[in-house]
Amino acid sequence: MISMKRYRVAINRYRKKTKSLQKAIQLSNTFDHLTGNEKVFLKPNIVYWSWVSDYPKYGVVTTSRIVEDTIILLNKIGIKDITIGEGIVVSDPKDYELAHHAFESLGYNRFKKRYGIKVLNVFERPFEKIDLGDDIVLNFNTDALHCDAIISLPVLKTHSEAKISLSLKNLKGLIDIPSRKKCHTPDTERDLNFYLARLSKKLPPVTAIIDGIYLNERGPGYDGQMKRSNLLITSSDMFSADKVGSCILGYNPSDVLYLSNYAKENNRPIDLSDVEVVGKSIESVQGHYEYEFSYNGDGTNPIAFVKQGIKGISYRQYDNTTCTYCSMITSLLPIAITYAWDTNHGEPWDDIEVLVGKRMNPTPGKNKTILLGQCMVNKHKTNSEINDMIPIKGCPVKPENITKGFQQAGINIPPDFFENLDNIPQFFGLPYKNRFNEFQESFFSEDAKDETVPPIDDIVVSQLYIDNANDSNDFPKKQAKFELFFFGLVGEKNINAIKNVVVKGPRGYQFHFKNQPFDFQNGNGYIIDKYSRQKVRYLAFDRNGFLEDGNYTITVDYWNGETRSRSRFLKSNKLLLNNYLKLKEKIVYNAKEVPKYMGDPKIYADTTWTTLNDLGGENAFYANYVSQGRTESVNLHDLTHFDNIYQNRLLMPSYGLNKNSALVNTRWKLLKHNTEYTWVVEICDSNKLSDINLTIHQPNQYFKTN
Ligand code: SF4
Repeated sequence: MISMKRYRVAINRYRKKTKSLQKAIQLSNTFDHLTGNEKVFLKPNIVYWSWVSDYPKYGVVTTSRIVEDTIILLNKIGIKDITIGEGIVVSDPKDYELAHHAFESLGYNRFKKRYGIKVLNVFERPFEKIDLGDDIVLNFNTDALHCDAIISLPVLKTHSEAKISLSLKNLKGLIDIPSRKKCHTPDTERDLNFYLARLSKKLPPVTAIIDGIYLNERGPGYDGQMKRSNLLITSSDMFSADKVGSCILGYNPSDVLYLSNYAKENNRPIDLSDVEVVGKSIESVQGHYEYEFSYNGDGTNPIAFVKQGIKGISYRQYDNTTCTYCSMITSLLPIAITYAWDTNHGEPWDDIEVLVGKRMNPTPGKNKTILLGQCMVNKHKTNSEINDMIPIKGCPVKPENITKGFQQAGINIPPDFFENLDNIPQFFGLPYKNRFNEFQESFFSEDAKDETVPPIDDIVVSQLYIDNANDSNDFPKKQAKFELFFFGLVGEKNINAIKNVVVKGPRGYQFHFKNQPFDFQNGNGYIIDKYSRQKVRYLAFDRNGFLEDGNYTITVDYWNGETRSRSRFLKSNKLLLNNYLKLKEKIVYNAKEVPKYMGDPKIYADTTWTTLNDLGGENAFYANYVSQGRTESVNLHDLTHFDNIYQNRLLMPSYGLNKNSALVNTRWKLLKHNTEYTWVVEICDSNKLSDINLTIHQPNQYFKTN
């Protein structure tokens, strides 16, 4: 009887720098095949990079901690000739600067100095044509081809097109752009899974170190759901590590097509019969992580569209033929469409279908068909089944052409959405900033550093004009407004981290925040914002009139003895206030329920108002707040709807500017039947919190649902 070779795979928890990886590598003998003289190529996974590098990289980019630990451990066995190489897809293929920015930000250039390694962008290096058999020829990076050993350093994630993406799939970053496009063929037999299975065929032996400090569900991008998982999976055999990783993510390896193909190609079992798992057991760390984005029953629209009542569009689930540039767009478009819907007053669009990738065919009878990307344009440009064709050519497609094409179809994507692509990922990072010491950006530079207190995120120091104040001494129209936002301060119990908050300003000005729940009567306290995942912020009004211009500092004393502060210079905006006082009688507010189209039982209300700009006056920003019940003021603790211009500006810098409507409700909180609601539109001279000089609370408005 021939005994089958068994490959060791270690599963270890990440606890301590270098030591945790060292343990995994020792347990699994991952480096035992290396003598110390080899030329080693490290392939981290940098799925995406942005000039605005403050975006969520958790489960998207290999942590720099694991990259450095790998170098340290290779050095320990005598290996000095180490190269880090990656080919990051950027919207402009000739833009090498962004890759250099990534390498610098991730600390690779420091590793270069510290350990004498090399760092390279594969797109600036030669490629060699490699025949992988079965009529497949792909162009591979020459440095990876000619090293002695490759270490694949993927992150632990599921993948919307390939189900899971680990060590083998990570090697796709070693081929050039035409080869990557080739992998996403429309051929249903020899598709992406066929190509992925052959990627390692002519490469030197590939060792796997799977970085599961963070895990990305519905990866590979920053729009997935990120989790802290503190896992490391290592093996000298890439395929064994991927089989184990697949099980940990909740997928039997035989259900991952490219792994099955690899097994057949290489005469290996697809089950774990040739694997010995050491360290933690699979069962003790296993979960089930979705890979596809949620769509409605017939796959015509994302669930998010259904929840928001978006009608008259079909944005089908993209398939595995959608590659490089188009896949960067497909995850952003639903968000752009959502913003366009907000300004459509609940009217369905004109039965529009969006097609993308290389395989999709139009649904007969649609009024308008948007062909997104050169492949769709080439495939359907003469298709007589399309009534009104809107081709958006290009590979990559120019962002401005996407906006134009959708506007031609009647979908008014805000023009600055695609003009500011670099800002978008930052927006996706907001939920993670509130998870205290769970999501640590410092993992992507050098050592992860724990925060000792919830740091200050932002402040507001503004003049406040409350139009429906009675103008008594207790409740004057002219007041001052201070607001304080934190990272990682969530839920009432965590308020006990804060001891004292004081504002100091010109000529000895002092104002103290109170540690009590805020309401408009006491005008001073904290808000547990149920609309924003129980985030805590402090809001206070100084009823002694407007502040004088000058520098103001808000200082927080924490109970652990630490202090943090933030300052800004306040400059009165008399022009905007006078303009409001002059024009306010002409402002018209309206709220009406949107007709129920296509049997949707949910209630939507369209709130509209006249802006100063509509009346020939000043530019300003408008934010709409809605809460349940007919009350003297909106309930900031429990909003039904908030058109958050202060966050949406991250996506669209001009968001809220002269905005004269907001569609209520969103998917977060449904409007109830036969119920009264209070709403107010706040006018500000900026949509950036720390730049606001004037806030005007317009008179409260009310509406009642049927
Ligand atoms: S148009 Fe889109 S799908 Fe076609 S090759 Fe270019 S990026 Fe890929």
